[in-house]
Amino acid sequence: MWLRQRRNPMTYGQANEGGREGKNSSANSSRRRQSELYALGAEDAINPYCCPTCGSQNTQRLSTAYMSGLSQFSAVTSGIGWARAPVIGRGWTIGTSQTQLSQVAAPPAKRNYSRGLLLLLFGPIIGGAPFAILEHLHGPSNTFDLLAVSLVILLEIGAVTSLLRAVAYNKYDWPELLEQWRSCLMCLRCGQVFRP
Ligand SMILES: [Zn+2]
Repeated sequence: MWLRQRRNPMTYGQANEGGREGKNSSANSSRRRQSELYALGAEDAINPYCCPTCGSQNTQRLSTAYMSGLSQFSAVTSGIGWARAPVIGRGWTIGTSQTQLSQVAAPPAKRNYSRGLLLLLFGPIIGGAPFAILEHLHGPSNTFDLLAVSLVILLEIGAVTSLLRAVAYNKYDWPELLEQWRSCLMCLRCGQVFRP
């Protein structure tokens, strides 16, 4: 009876407390484990940002390096612009001098279509003009006409190919390169560019 009376609340309480403690301790330990894991994860997350060449932690995103160079550039122009109105023009031309770091860290450029378009537009003139001169000098000839037409066709094919390649590059390759550029880091100690 005594045992039973005493034991019942005790064991009950103990069991309860024990259960609670058990839960608490297991929760604590799991939390600890989680925080340890988190710490490990954080270390892992920080470590890749170190330079793989010299181990320096003084790294910066390429995009940040690029933007900081640009902001310096705009500050120069606005500074001159604010000081005196007539100097604004000069300020703008000076403003194109970007920091070298920023130039190095510039994002991949899109291909422009100007060369292909120019070739497409002026292909007939470029291809036809020499043979027109030859015909003018030596009299009309079917050979010259044929050569002129084939040269123009070749130039136009070249122009269309270059345009299509530029379109394909800008549509498929460039976004990927830009994404790579965004994720790249630059070591400010040795200049190494790397992906974390
Ligand atoms: Zn480095």
